[in-house]
Amino acid sequence: MTALQLTPIGTSPAWYNPGEPNSGFLLEGGGRRVLVDCGSGVISRYLALFGADHPIDAIVLSHVHADHCFDLVPLKYGIEFGTLRDWSPQLWLPPGARDRLTRLVSAWDEDFSYFDGAYDVRDYDTSAAFDVGPFTVSALDVPHYIESKALRFELDGTSFGYSSDLGPTEAIAPFMHGVDLLLAEAAFPEDGDLDMPGRGHITASEAGRIAHDAGAHSLLLTHVPEELGLERSRELAAAAFRSGPVHVARSGERYDVAHRLAAVS
Ligand SMILES: [Zn+2]
Ligand SMILES: [Zn+2]
Repeated sequence: MTALQLTPIGTSPAWYNPGEPNSGFLLEGGGRRVLVDCGSGVISRYLALFGADHPIDAIVLSHVHADHCFDLVPLKYGIEFGTLRDWSPQLWLPPGARDRLTRLVSAWDEDFSYFDGAYDVRDYDTSAAFDVGPFTVSALDVPHYIESKALRFELDGTSFGYSSDLGPTEAIAPFMHGVDLLLAEAAFPEDGDLDMPGRGHITASEAGRIAHDAGAHSLLLTHVPEELGLERSRELAAAAFRSGPVHVARSGERYDVAHRLAAVS
């Protein structure tokens, strides 16, 4: 049995909470390191926490909004020209991501081959589970402003779910059924317009309800704007969840996924 550990690297929303990079979450298990999302500031923070001699084996993107993918660019240069030449991570992309990333780098380069020198690029979709190192991963379409995939990782009977950025959807709780740890965004203000057409984020209370309906064992909130109140968001989520511990994720904290937010020193 291999312990599955989660270390949030960055937890900011699309703008910055002080001292927090944008979205990036490290999963460790089976001797492998998998980074889920790679937003601005994530690689710098990763190197400060772990060092260049701890290569990331794979990166899985939930979607290609800036706050979830922009550090693919400095990481590429670090691998090709810098201190990360020993790294050769897989890069797992959801449907449509190649085209969006090609248009992004067209500001300074020709085409998607810009990424090929640094990354072993793979595509995934929601039709079947796929293997990323020792992890079995499945993906779910969730509503957002662009294509976005919730992700579920399984390793030796332990499960970790990541909501990605998403609007309200009934599909998420069944997809996350029984996960040991649910990492859910909570970017939308509780007093915001919940009936807004096409709403692309959820509230802390909604995150708590998803955890409750899924029968998750524990809940971590991320993507919470600091101005909404981190502790207030935690309390709102906990009131809706009720059956397990709730924390607001912070960069550098390390959790044993199977043990209800037990810290790993
Ligand atoms: Zn985001
Ligand atoms: Zn987004």
